Amino acid sequence: MTQCGRCGGGAFYTRRYSGETLCTSCFKASIVEKTRRTISKYDMLGHGQRVGIALSGGKDSLSLLQVLHELNENKRCELVALTVDEGVEGYRDEAIEHASALARKLGVEHVLVSYKELYGFTLDQALDWKDQRTHSSCSICGVFRRRGIDEAATRARVSVVATAHNLDDYVQTFLMNLMHGDVDRLGWFDPSVVDADFPFRRVKPFMEIYEEEIALYAHLEGLPFQSASCPYMHEGLRSEVRDYLNELETKHAGIKNVLLNSALQVSTKLAIVGTHANSVPCSICGKPSSQGVCGVCRMKDLVQQHTKYSP
Ligand SMILES: [Zn+2]
Ligand SMILES: [Zn+2]
Repeated sequence: MTQCGRCGGGAFYTRRYSGETLCTSCFKASIVEKTRRTISKYDMLGHGQRVGIALSGGKDSLSLLQVLHELNENKRCELVALTVDEGVEGYRDEAIEHASALARKLGVEHVLVSYKELYGFTLDQALDWKDQRTHSSCSICGVFRRRGIDEAATRARVSVVATAHNLDDYVQTFLMNLMHGDVDRLGWFDPSVVDADFPFRRVKPFMEIYEEEIALYAHLEGLPFQSASCPYMHEGLRSEVRDYLNELETKHAGIKNVLLNSALQVSTKLAIVGTHANSVPCSICGKPSSQGVCGVCRMKDLVQQHTKYSP
Protein backbone atom coordinates (compact mmCIF):
# COMPACT_ATOMS: atom_id res chain seq x y z
CA MET A 1 0.00 0.00 0.00
CA THR A 2 1.25 3.47 -0.88
CA GLN A 3 2.15 5.57 2.14
CA CYS A 4 1.19 9.13 2.93
CA GLY A 5 4.28 11.25 2.27
CA ARG A 6 3.63 13.28 5.40
CA CYS A 7 2.57 10.89 8.18
CA GLY A 8 3.29 7.43 6.77
CA GLY A 9 -0.37 6.36 7.01
CA GLY A 10 -2.32 4.82 4.13
CA ALA A 11 -2.36 7.16 1.14
CA PHE A 12 -5.58 7.75 -0.78
CA TYR A 13 -4.70 10.66 -3.05
CA THR A 14 -1.76 11.53 -5.27
CA ARG A 15 -1.36 15.14 -6.25
CA ARG A 16 -0.40 14.64 -9.88
CA TYR A 17 1.34 17.98 -10.41
CA SER A 18 3.71 17.48 -7.47
CA GLY A 19 3.72 13.68 -7.09
CA GLU A 20 2.86 14.03 -3.38
CA THR A 21 0.83 11.17 -1.84
CA LEU A 22 -1.51 11.98 1.03
CA CYS A 23 -3.84 10.27 3.51
CA THR A 24 -7.29 11.81 4.06
CA SER A 25 -6.37 13.85 7.13
CA CYS A 26 -3.09 15.16 5.66
CA PHE A 27 -4.99 16.01 2.45
CA LYS A 28 -7.57 18.06 4.39
CA ALA A 29 -4.81 19.73 6.39
CA SER A 30 -2.99 20.58 3.13
CA ILE A 31 -6.07 22.45 1.83
CA VAL A 32 -6.35 24.47 5.05
CA GLU A 33 -2.60 25.16 5.01
CA LYS A 34 -2.57 26.23 1.36
CA THR A 35 -5.48 28.62 2.00
CA ARG A 36 -3.61 30.08 4.97
CA ARG A 37 -0.52 30.65 2.80
CA THR A 38 -2.54 32.37 0.04
CA ILE A 39 -4.20 34.66 2.60
CA SER A 40 -0.86 35.60 4.08
CA LYS A 41 0.94 35.98 0.72
CA TYR A 42 -1.57 38.62 -0.46
CA ASP A 43 -2.27 40.00 3.01
CA MET A 44 -5.98 39.27 2.44
CA LEU A 45 -7.29 39.41 6.02
CA GLY A 46 -6.29 41.66 8.88
CA HIS A 47 -6.53 41.33 12.64
CA GLY A 48 -9.91 42.41 14.08
CA GLN A 49 -11.61 42.73 10.67
CA ARG A 50 -15.20 41.78 9.99
CA VAL A 51 -14.92 39.33 7.09
CA GLY A 52 -17.88 38.55 4.82
CA ILE A 53 -17.94 35.16 3.12
CA ALA A 54 -20.08 34.91 -0.01
CA LEU A 55 -21.96 31.69 0.77
CA SER A 56 -24.10 30.35 -2.09
CA GLY A 57 -24.46 26.90 -0.53
CA GLY A 58 -22.45 25.17 -3.27
CA LYS A 59 -19.41 22.97 -2.51
CA ASP A 60 -16.83 25.74 -2.96
CA SER A 61 -18.47 28.31 -0.71
CA LEU A 62 -19.37 25.78 2.01
CA SER A 63 -15.74 24.61 1.97
CA LEU A 64 -14.51 28.21 2.19
CA LEU A 65 -16.65 28.88 5.26
CA GLN A 66 -15.43 25.65 6.87
CA VAL A 67 -11.74 26.38 6.13
CA LEU A 68 -11.87 30.05 7.20
CA HIS A 69 -13.67 29.03 10.40
CA GLU A 70 -10.90 26.52 11.12
CA LEU A 71 -8.19 29.11 10.41
CA ASN A 72 -9.98 31.59 12.67
CA GLU A 73 -9.73 29.34 15.72
CA ASN A 74 -8.17 32.11 17.79
CA LYS A 75 -10.95 34.54 16.70
CA ARG A 76 -8.61 37.01 14.99
CA CYS A 77 -11.46 38.03 12.66
CA GLU A 78 -15.25 38.13 12.92
CA LEU A 79 -16.77 35.98 10.18
CA VAL A 80 -20.16 36.78 8.62
CA ALA A 81 -21.75 34.56 5.97
CA LEU A 82 -23.46 36.47 3.11
CA THR A 83 -26.09 34.73 0.98
CA VAL A 84 -28.05 36.02 -1.99
CA ASP A 85 -31.34 34.29 -2.82
CA GLU A 86 -31.71 34.73 -6.58
CA GLY A 87 -35.16 33.17 -6.56
CA VAL A 88 -35.03 30.03 -8.69
CA GLU A 89 -37.96 27.83 -7.78
CA GLY A 90 -37.12 24.25 -6.88
CA TYR A 91 -33.38 24.89 -6.99
CA ARG A 92 -32.10 27.64 -4.71
CA ASP A 93 -34.04 26.66 -1.58
CA GLU A 94 -32.01 23.51 -1.00
CA ALA A 95 -28.64 25.28 -1.34
CA ILE A 96 -29.80 28.09 0.96
CA GLU A 97 -30.78 25.49 3.57
CA HIS A 98 -27.27 23.98 3.36
CA ALA A 99 -25.78 27.47 3.73
CA SER A 100 -27.91 28.33 6.78
CA ALA A 101 -27.29 24.94 8.38
CA LEU A 102 -23.49 25.23 8.14
CA ALA A 103 -23.46 28.83 9.38
CA ARG A 104 -25.64 27.76 12.34
CA LYS A 105 -23.47 24.72 13.09
CA LEU A 106 -20.28 26.82 13.13
CA GLY A 107 -21.94 29.65 15.06
CA VAL A 108 -21.31 32.15 12.25
CA GLU A 109 -23.61 35.16 11.78
CA HIS A 110 -25.60 34.87 8.51
CA VAL A 111 -26.99 37.74 6.42
CA LEU A 112 -29.45 36.87 3.64
CA VAL A 113 -30.70 39.19 0.88
CA SER A 114 -32.95 38.36 -2.08
CA TYR A 115 -33.39 39.63 -5.65
CA LYS A 116 -37.09 40.05 -4.90
CA GLU A 117 -36.40 42.44 -2.05
CA LEU A 118 -33.56 44.31 -3.81
CA TYR A 119 -34.91 44.56 -7.37
CA GLY A 120 -38.62 43.75 -7.15
CA PHE A 121 -38.33 40.50 -9.15
CA THR A 122 -36.89 37.01 -8.70
CA LEU A 123 -34.43 35.53 -11.23
CA ASP A 124 -37.25 33.34 -12.57
CA GLN A 125 -39.26 36.49 -13.23
CA ALA A 126 -36.29 38.43 -14.65
CA LEU A 127 -35.71 35.71 -17.25
CA ASP A 128 -39.36 35.51 -18.26
CA TRP A 129 -38.96 37.66 -21.39
CA LYS A 130 -41.73 37.91 -23.92
CA ASP A 131 -39.34 38.36 -26.86
CA GLN A 132 -36.04 36.74 -27.77
CA ARG A 133 -33.49 37.51 -25.06
CA THR A 134 -30.25 39.14 -26.14
CA HIS A 135 -28.37 38.36 -22.89
CA SER A 136 -27.54 34.93 -21.50
CA SER A 137 -29.19 33.90 -18.21
CA CYS A 138 -25.81 33.91 -16.48
CA SER A 139 -24.90 37.39 -17.64
CA ILE A 140 -28.22 38.80 -16.36
CA CYS A 141 -27.94 36.90 -13.07
CA GLY A 142 -24.25 37.78 -12.61
CA VAL A 143 -24.89 41.54 -12.69
CA PHE A 144 -27.59 41.26 -10.01
CA ARG A 145 -25.71 38.75 -7.84
CA ARG A 146 -22.60 40.92 -7.58
CA ARG A 147 -24.70 43.86 -6.39
CA GLY A 148 -26.58 41.52 -4.03
CA ILE A 149 -23.33 40.50 -2.33
CA ASP A 150 -22.38 44.20 -2.10
CA GLU A 151 -25.71 44.94 -0.39
CA ALA A 152 -25.35 42.05 2.05
CA ALA A 153 -21.77 43.15 2.78
CA THR A 154 -22.91 46.71 3.47
CA ARG A 155 -25.62 45.49 5.85
CA ALA A 156 -23.14 43.20 7.59
CA ARG A 157 -20.65 46.12 7.91
CA VAL A 158 -17.71 44.01 6.74
CA SER A 159 -14.45 45.45 5.45
CA VAL A 160 -13.53 42.51 3.26
CA VAL A 161 -15.54 39.98 1.22
CA ALA A 162 -14.07 36.55 0.53
CA THR A 163 -15.44 34.60 -2.44
CA ALA A 164 -14.81 30.92 -3.11
CA HIS A 165 -13.37 31.28 -6.63
CA ASN A 166 -10.80 28.52 -7.11
CA LEU A 167 -7.79 28.24 -9.42
CA ASP A 168 -9.90 26.80 -12.25
CA ASP A 169 -12.41 29.69 -12.06
CA TYR A 170 -9.56 32.17 -12.06
CA VAL A 171 -7.81 30.73 -15.12
CA GLN A 172 -11.09 30.20 -17.01
CA THR A 173 -12.16 33.81 -16.46
CA PHE A 174 -8.75 35.09 -17.51
CA LEU A 175 -8.87 33.10 -20.76
CA MET A 176 -12.48 34.12 -21.41
CA ASN A 177 -11.57 37.79 -21.09
CA LEU A 178 -8.86 37.22 -23.71
CA MET A 179 -11.39 35.48 -25.96
CA HIS A 180 -13.91 38.29 -25.53
CA GLY A 181 -11.25 40.93 -26.17
CA ASP A 182 -11.76 42.47 -22.71
CA VAL A 183 -8.09 43.39 -22.28
CA ASP A 184 -8.77 46.12 -19.67
CA ARG A 185 -10.28 43.53 -17.35
CA LEU A 186 -7.04 41.52 -17.30
CA GLY A 187 -5.66 44.05 -14.83
CA TRP A 188 -8.45 43.30 -12.33
CA PHE A 189 -6.96 39.91 -11.53
CA ASP A 190 -4.08 41.21 -9.45
CA PRO A 191 -5.03 40.01 -5.94
CA SER A 192 -3.12 42.81 -4.23
CA VAL A 193 -5.06 45.60 -5.95
CA VAL A 194 -7.52 47.34 -3.62
CA ASP A 195 -10.29 49.19 -5.44
CA ALA A 196 -10.75 52.55 -3.76
CA ASP A 197 -14.31 52.88 -5.13
CA PHE A 198 -15.63 50.00 -3.07
CA PRO A 199 -16.12 50.21 0.68
CA PHE A 200 -14.63 46.74 1.07
CA ARG A 201 -11.92 44.66 -0.50
CA ARG A 202 -12.68 41.45 -2.43
CA VAL A 203 -10.39 38.46 -1.86
CA LYS A 204 -10.26 34.89 -3.18
CA PRO A 205 -8.55 32.64 -0.62
CA PHE A 206 -9.01 29.51 -2.82
CA MET A 207 -7.45 31.06 -5.92
CA GLU A 208 -4.40 28.76 -5.74
CA ILE A 209 -6.34 25.51 -5.25
CA TYR A 210 -7.62 23.22 -8.01
CA GLU A 211 -11.39 22.81 -8.25
CA GLU A 212 -11.14 19.00 -7.99
CA GLU A 213 -9.28 19.33 -4.67
CA ILE A 214 -11.99 21.61 -3.24
CA ALA A 215 -14.61 19.07 -4.32
CA LEU A 216 -12.63 16.32 -2.63
CA TYR A 217 -12.26 18.39 0.54
CA ALA A 218 -16.03 19.06 0.62
CA HIS A 219 -16.67 15.33 0.19
CA LEU A 220 -14.22 14.34 2.95
CA GLU A 221 -15.65 16.94 5.33
CA GLY A 222 -19.13 15.55 4.65
CA LEU A 223 -20.44 18.96 3.59
CA PRO A 224 -23.99 18.37 2.29
CA PHE A 225 -23.76 20.41 -0.90
CA GLN A 226 -26.29 20.41 -3.71
CA SER A 227 -25.23 18.34 -6.68
CA ALA A 228 -27.90 19.59 -9.12
CA SER A 229 -26.66 22.48 -11.23
CA CYS A 230 -28.59 25.67 -11.85
CA PRO A 231 -31.41 25.11 -14.39
CA TYR A 232 -30.35 28.32 -16.15
CA MET A 233 -26.72 27.27 -16.41
CA HIS A 234 -25.52 28.46 -19.76
CA GLU A 235 -23.58 25.77 -21.58
CA GLY A 236 -21.53 28.37 -23.37
CA LEU A 237 -17.90 29.25 -23.77
CA ARG A 238 -17.02 28.78 -20.09
CA SER A 239 -17.86 25.09 -20.03
CA GLU A 240 -15.86 24.54 -23.23
CA VAL A 241 -12.87 26.35 -21.71
CA ARG A 242 -13.30 24.31 -18.52
CA ASP A 243 -13.32 20.98 -20.42
CA TYR A 244 -10.34 22.03 -22.53
CA LEU A 245 -8.28 23.01 -19.46
CA ASN A 246 -9.13 19.70 -17.76
CA GLU A 247 -8.06 17.82 -20.87
CA LEU A 248 -4.76 19.72 -20.98
CA GLU A 249 -4.19 19.05 -17.27
CA THR A 250 -4.63 15.30 -17.80
CA LYS A 251 -1.88 15.31 -20.41
CA HIS A 252 0.33 17.94 -18.80
CA ALA A 253 -0.05 17.79 -15.00
CA GLY A 254 0.51 21.21 -13.46
CA ILE A 255 -0.36 23.27 -16.53
CA LYS A 256 -3.19 25.02 -14.65
CA ASN A 257 -0.68 26.20 -12.03
CA VAL A 258 1.51 27.60 -14.81
CA LEU A 259 -1.48 29.38 -16.37
CA LEU A 260 -2.40 30.90 -13.00
CA ASN A 261 1.12 32.25 -12.60
CA SER A 262 1.11 33.70 -16.11
CA ALA A 263 -2.32 35.29 -15.52
CA LEU A 264 -1.10 36.87 -12.27
CA GLN A 265 2.02 38.29 -13.92
CA VAL A 266 0.04 39.79 -16.80
CA SER A 267 -2.45 41.25 -14.29
CA THR A 268 0.26 42.85 -12.21
CA LYS A 269 1.67 44.54 -15.29
CA LEU A 270 -1.77 45.84 -16.29
CA ALA A 271 -3.05 46.58 -12.78
CA ILE A 272 -2.76 50.36 -13.07
CA VAL A 273 -5.20 50.54 -15.96
CA GLY A 274 -7.35 47.95 -14.25
CA THR A 275 -8.43 50.09 -11.31
CA HIS A 276 -11.74 51.87 -11.74
CA ALA A 277 -9.99 55.22 -11.49
CA ASN A 278 -12.37 56.99 -13.86
CA SER A 279 -15.67 55.94 -12.31
CA VAL A 280 -18.55 58.34 -11.66
CA PRO A 281 -21.62 57.83 -9.43
CA CYS A 282 -24.57 56.19 -11.25
CA SER A 283 -27.25 58.83 -11.90
CA ILE A 284 -29.97 56.41 -10.68
CA CYS A 285 -28.56 54.51 -7.68
CA GLY A 286 -25.37 56.46 -6.91
CA LYS A 287 -23.07 53.41 -6.98
CA PRO A 288 -19.72 53.77 -8.81
CA SER A 289 -20.08 53.31 -12.56
CA SER A 290 -17.87 53.65 -15.63
CA GLN A 291 -20.80 55.21 -17.52
CA GLY A 292 -23.55 57.60 -16.42
CA VAL A 293 -25.85 54.71 -15.46
CA CYS A 294 -24.41 51.57 -13.81
CA GLY A 295 -24.69 48.02 -15.20
CA VAL A 296 -27.24 46.99 -12.56
CA CYS A 297 -29.61 49.89 -13.30
CA ARG A 298 -29.25 49.32 -17.06
CA MET A 299 -30.01 45.59 -16.65
CA LYS A 300 -32.95 46.32 -14.33
CA ASP A 301 -34.38 48.68 -16.94
CA LEU A 302 -33.95 46.05 -19.65
CA VAL A 303 -35.72 43.40 -17.53
CA GLN A 304 -38.59 45.79 -16.77
CA GLN A 305 -39.00 46.66 -20.46
CA HIS A 306 -39.21 43.03 -21.52
CA THR A 307 -41.12 41.38 -18.68
CA LYS A 308 -44.33 42.18 -16.86
CA TYR A 309 -42.39 42.79 -13.63
CA SER A 310 -42.28 46.58 -13.73
CA PRO A 311 -42.58 48.53 -10.51
ZN1 LIG B 1 -0.93 11.56 6.35
ZN1 LIG C 1 -27.19 52.37 -10.73
